[in-house]
Amino acid sequence: MSSSNVKLQHLRKSFFDIHHQKENVAVEDFSLDIQGGELVTLLGPSGCGKTTVLRMLAGFESPTSGHIILNDKDITQLPPNKRNSAMVFQSYALFPHMNVEENIMYGLKLRGFSKEEQSQKLSGFLDIVNLRGYEKRKPHELSGGQQQRVALARALIVKPAILLFDEPLSNLDAKLRESMRNEIRNIQKSLKITAVYVTHDQAEAMAISDRVVVMNKGKIEQIGSSQDVYLRPSTRFVADFMGAANFLTQANGKTLVVRPENIKLHSLQDSLTGEVRQASIKEYHFLGSVHEYHLHLQTGEKIVARLPVSMDEKPHFVGENIQVSFDQKNLHQLSG
Ligand code: ATP
Repeated sequence: MSSSNVKLQHLRKSFFDIHHQKENVAVEDFSLDIQGGELVTLLGPSGCGKTTVLRMLAGFESPTSGHIILNDKDITQLPPNKRNSAMVFQSYALFPHMNVEENIMYGLKLRGFSKEEQSQKLSGFLDIVNLRGYEKRKPHELSGGQQQRVALARALIVKPAILLFDEPLSNLDAKLRESMRNEIRNIQKSLKITAVYVTHDQAEAMAISDRVVVMNKGKIEQIGSSQDVYLRPSTRFVADFMGAANFLTQANGKTLVVRPENIKLHSLQDSLTGEVRQASIKEYHFLGSVHEYHLHLQTGEKIVARLPVSMDEKPHFVGENIQVSFDQKNLHQLSG
């Protein structure tokens, strides 16, 4: 499968709100270059505009302004069926009266492939999505994960230039979500297919993506690798949205961000050097893999620390006065 590159240039989309008689901007000045074979995730809270960007890419919505370029061709005005893209939906959107193989081959049939060609292609994709033996089953006879695999095979079999995922795992339970996201990533990587993935789940975004686009109120807050957006967030919004974050204000007014797992706790007797603060423990929660402490620093700031759990370890106690230390390398200064 050849890898296509996609350029989104200054996309803007506004909707007219008939109830309030005004224009609502859903997406503003959205620019992104997606390399061939790359998986880029659009991540952000509900209503931030990620689905609208995906729908503009698919051709279900047309941008108010801006351009979409696929392999150097401007496809902004092309209808969905002329774009060579395929979408995997949260709801699977399978045909209930068709069995697995009929569902998967549907797109090939539409494109005029002969019965033999359809079966030949089907065979390869049944193995890729691990559905051999299920060919004759109807969607209601499949688990949620299996239904999503059918939807994935149906999207892949037409060899789309770009594969779009609209919260594909939202209907699955937590454990299955994790295994399915790994499966999707492995398949996408091995086929080198260019993909755009929409989710509001941070862990899913970080696990599956080459790059993450964090969105807020229709705009891009930051584009970067999973490590970038988690460890080196450019704004307070990104720091907060990507996971628990502590903010420390410096004398110069700049803000430092430090993740709870990068904080160390010590008893008052320990002699320490470097970035050290006095604190008291206000709250404690055992979360299984980590001890979580809520601390008040003497400076008045409130922070959360998460320490790894081991069998023989005795956690600190609520009310204890302690020292908190930070490794300089784990303190990141926000730019925005
Ligand atoms: P979610 O995670 O809840 O699906 P989202 O980030 O995908 O949210 P969008 O669905 O893209 O957000 O919506 C962005 C904004 O545009 C919202 O304020 C939404 O109400 C508005 N919007 C989306 N589609 C339409 C439409 N067809 N008509 C009017 N407003 C719309």
